[in-house]
Amino acid sequence: MDKRPPPRPAILVHGGAWAIPDEEWPAHRAGVDRAVRAGWDVLRRGGEALDAIETVVRLLEDDPTYDAGVGSVLTRDGHVEMDAAAMDGRDLRVGAVACVRTVRNPIRLAREVMRSDHVLLVGDGAERFAREVGVETCDPAALVVDRERVRLETWRRDAATADPRDAFQHRPDGPRGTVGAVAVDRGGNLAAGGSTGGTPGKRSGRVGDTPIAGAGLWADNRVGAAACTGWGEGILRIGLARTAVGHLREAAAQDAAWLAVREMEDRVSGRAGVIVLSRDGSLGYAFNTPRMAVAFMDEELEEPFVIGPAPRG
Ligand code: ASP
Repeated sequence: MDKRPPPRPAILVHGGAWAIPDEEWPAHRAGVDRAVRAGWDVLRRGGEALDAIETVVRLLEDDPTYDAGVGSVLTRDGHVEMDAAAMDGRDLRVGAVACVRTVRNPIRLAREVMRSDHVLLVGDGAERFAREVGVETCDPAALVVDRERVRLETWRRDAATADPRDAFQHRPDGPRGTVGAVAVDRGGNLAAGGSTGGTPGKRSGRVGDTPIAGAGLWADNRVGAAACTGWGEGILRIGLARTAVGHLREAAAQDAAWLAVREMEDRVSGRAGVIVLSRDGSLGYAFNTPRMAVAFMDEELEEPFVIGPAPRG
């Protein structure tokens, strides 16, 4: 007989790592706070972890503060190309999309892929699938915000003079707003999800860690769940999310998060952040970037716990 205590629902949300500037902090904090409340509401009412994840990620995709959905960063030729994924810890089912340009909420499409007989759909095929299953599409221009037009101009100026080996991980003005979440529901089911416009100035067709199970996200009811943000190429090479969940077999969630980030730093000089939830609802997060926006909620808290410097003023 299983003598473990009943599962404690909990949800942990991130809004990207890197050098989020002081003036953008209030919006980053407010966004993850609002999103974690909405996700918690799903769990509190007895809803499923996967639905809580989708609720959170959709809200953050609709918030132009973040590099996901509207507000996504631009490719070097000036387009939005988004990646997203969700994973179900019950049976390790994954639904993911990459390089989509016309889908307002890529996480919705990722959930539809999860219901299909595929794991990952990219580009035109993913967009055709969106139309087939009735996921809302939009004019790609509707996803572009002025902040990102300006950022691309700066990126182009810098790129003309920068050493090409100076990858994103070393740039203080690197990406700052991929979104992701991990949750456990009353049934003890774990889920993870994330959405991103990727890295500013990326080549068209580049796919980061966010839609790749094992790298950007992992969820396994037997152990725990993790979601990542930061330099995607490094996260992919080390398989950061699965590394973090693997550490949960021996370590508490907070230690597992740090062990995974250190391993990434040692092996691939990566810069990233990870949120981790163990099957018993204990949480951890770690990052070796300057900042990371994180919010957490469970039954013991009256208000979400939001991590990061307080907004000024
Ligand atoms: N990991 C994302 C990517 O490489 C970017 C980010 O998290 O900021 O696509």
